[in-house]
Parts: sequence; structure tokens; C-alpha cells
Amino acid sequence: MQLTIKTSAKTEMINITGQVQEALDLEHFHNGICMVYVPHTTAAVTINESADPNVTRDILMILNKVVPWQADYRHIEGNSPAHIKASLMGASVMLAVEKGRLLLGTWQGIFFCEFDGPRTRKAHLKLLSNEGSILHH
Ligand code: ZN
Repeated sequence: MQLTIKTSAKTEMINITGQVQEALDLEHFHNGICMVYVPHTTAAVTINESADPNVTRDILMILNKVVPWQADYRHIEGNSPAHIKASLMGASVMLAVEKGRLLLGTWQGIFFCEFDGPRTRKAHLKLLSNEGSILHH
């Protein structure tokens, strides 16, 4: 399964929790592990607070300070900060699924992290069921 994510800024975090849950619903996936994997070198995925949008704003503000746009970078493409941020945040997250629902905490959301947008991106979903051959539809 694959999600398509259209980003609209150079750097942003997009809540994809609804899209992931929708994909699980379509597959009638009830119990197991859902891995979200981002096949990009300048984008990432992470889990953090989705209640207050200032949390992702603050994360990006500090990431931009830790990894400045101007430095003695050698990468010819000129987007080394995006590559570094992608590695800091990571390319995948694993989520537990129970009774068809993502086992996220009350304040948690899954965020696609764009570091060199805007672009059309993707995320792969891989599902590992712990129900053996028994289907619960
Ligand atoms: Zn590059």
C-alpha cells in the first residue's frame, strides 16, 4: 500500500494519521503491526503531538537552528540540510494496531516531514498481521 502526500512548503510536518487509518480500514486490517516507510532522502516520518500545532512548529524551528541552511556543505545539490534532517527524524515508524485502530496515545499523531519541498511524496505501508490465517472482517 502506498500513500501519496503533496507537500506545499520547503519544510513542513503534515499529519497523515487519518490517511494511515483510512488505509487500514480499506484493508480490513485488525490486529498487528503497521510500518510506515518513507522512500526519500530529504523527507522523514515521526510520531509526535497532534493536538497543539505549535509543537510541530517548534520542532521545525529548532531543527532549522540545529541544521542551518548556510554552512560549509559540499553536496553539489545544495540540499544537505534536508538530508541531515531526514536522518535525524528517521525513515520509518512502527505502529501497533488493535481492533482495527492505531494504538496511538491521546495526543499522538503520525507526521510526514518534508525538508526539501514542495514536492509530491510517498509513504509505503507494510502490514504484519498477528492473526495468522484467521480473518476477522
Ligand atoms: Zn541532495
